Amino acid sequence: MIIVESKNRCKIRIAGRPSERLDTLPVPGRVAATPARIPGIRPRLLKGKGDNVRIGTPLFCDKSRPEIRFVSPGCGEITDIVYGPRRIIEQIVIGIKSPETHERFKVVDDKTLGAISRKDLVASLLDSGLWPFLHDVTTRAIASPADKPSSVWVSLDPDDPFQPLSRVVVSGKEDVFAFGVKVLKLLAPKVNVCERDDMQVSDPILSSLVTHRVSGPYPAGDPSVLHYRTKKGADENRAWYISAQDLVCLAESLMSGQYCIDRVAAVSGPGDENQRHVLTRAGTPLASLVTGIDAVDDFYWICGGLFTGTPLGPDDFLGRFDASLTIIPKTDPPRLFGFLRPGADRPGCSRAYLSAFLPGFFPPDAGMHGEERACINCGTCASICPVDILPQFLYKSILTEEFEDALAHGLLDCAQCGFCSYSCPSKIELAETFGKARQDYFSGKI
Ligand code: SF4
Ligand code: SF4
Repeated sequence: MIIVESKNRCKIRIAGRPSERLDTLPVPGRVAATPARIPGIRPRLLKGKGDNVRIGTPLFCDKSRPEIRFVSPGCGEITDIVYGPRRIIEQIVIGIKSPETHERFKVVDDKTLGAISRKDLVASLLDSGLWPFLHDVTTRAIASPADKPSSVWVSLDPDDPFQPLSRVVVSGKEDVFAFGVKVLKLLAPKVNVCERDDMQVSDPILSSLVTHRVSGPYPAGDPSVLHYRTKKGADENRAWYISAQDLVCLAESLMSGQYCIDRVAAVSGPGDENQRHVLTRAGTPLASLVTGIDAVDDFYWICGGLFTGTPLGPDDFLGRFDASLTIIPKTDPPRLFGFLRPGADRPGCSRAYLSAFLPGFFPPDAGMHGEERACINCGTCASICPVDILPQFLYKSILTEEFEDALAHGLLDCAQCGFCSYSCPSKIELAETFGKARQDYFSGKI
């Protein structure tokens, strides 16, 4: 067991974590695939409006890697294809028709896995639409089938407090998870399964698979951070990751020969009823995950992690890789002489606010309390960055278009955790700037 400790001592103290209650939601009337929200791909449609599809029918592929296909999360008719700016495909909406049927593919189970080659396994994952669950730790895009990574990371419990807990997601499916780890072992020489030291697994099957234990607050358990802190040389640069939930889904699909659409999502919103886990399906409408929110426009609907997710709306859909919905009020009430207040009610890491010295959790608050300001070189961002970047200098190199300097400052090591933006007292969108620069780098624009 390898112990990985985080140097960061700043904890996220935002109240409203989802409870462990798991409610099963009814089948929605429509679901959607959301190509525009998948990083690093250029989608090309394989089906059109009016076509009938089954669960698992390929809907679109990546233009530059057409072997990577994305499949339907529902059975029925494609009722709408929604385009965004520059005709980017935002949603492929499917009206569900019962009874639903699945596309079938070749079963790979415990008996047949021993006889299958790596090449055949890759082909099988591509054919079935399961390949997109595998991601590259550096680019965070979908892994390339041509790569041979040094390792695959599986984090049992992401330390973002608003993501699903493994004891909810994997509970009762430990054997399936163990089969998933065997599958990963055919793809990479090392499979690293990581648990948090404050959430150690008690199940004997799971604990026999754990290779790493991480301590420290978010984002200590992020696969990119773990990889950065444990890799020993350049030959280990290339690694992949998959979430615990996606691994269960991939393994279940291979064992049954049909695409698994189940999704456990952690919901955190106003009211006790909206702080729970829900068992639903990929592509379900966001509005169906919550109850009793009438003034929907008064809230931000954030799909994905609180620091890394995408702001959407109730009419949007749960993406294939999303596993959480966090709803926070938009309110930003004017504060008389706010600049003179010590900030006892503002959570953060900066010692510029009194809250840094107070115990407890604070209600979520999306208010900016004023404009972005110039960097004051306080060093807060550098003190919390989990991959030893000096974000303030990286930011300045990107603003001045000194991209060689940006690379030297560790642009490619950035784990995109968003914690520097959260911690910056000047409200500078550091992580967003780094994300755009990384995208430009990987797409060859810089
Ligand atoms: S630079 Fe910011 S977003 Fe990147 S790893 Fe460091 S804290 Fe996270
Ligand atoms: S970018 Fe923000 S957190 Fe970092 S040194 Fe400047 S003011 Fe401080």
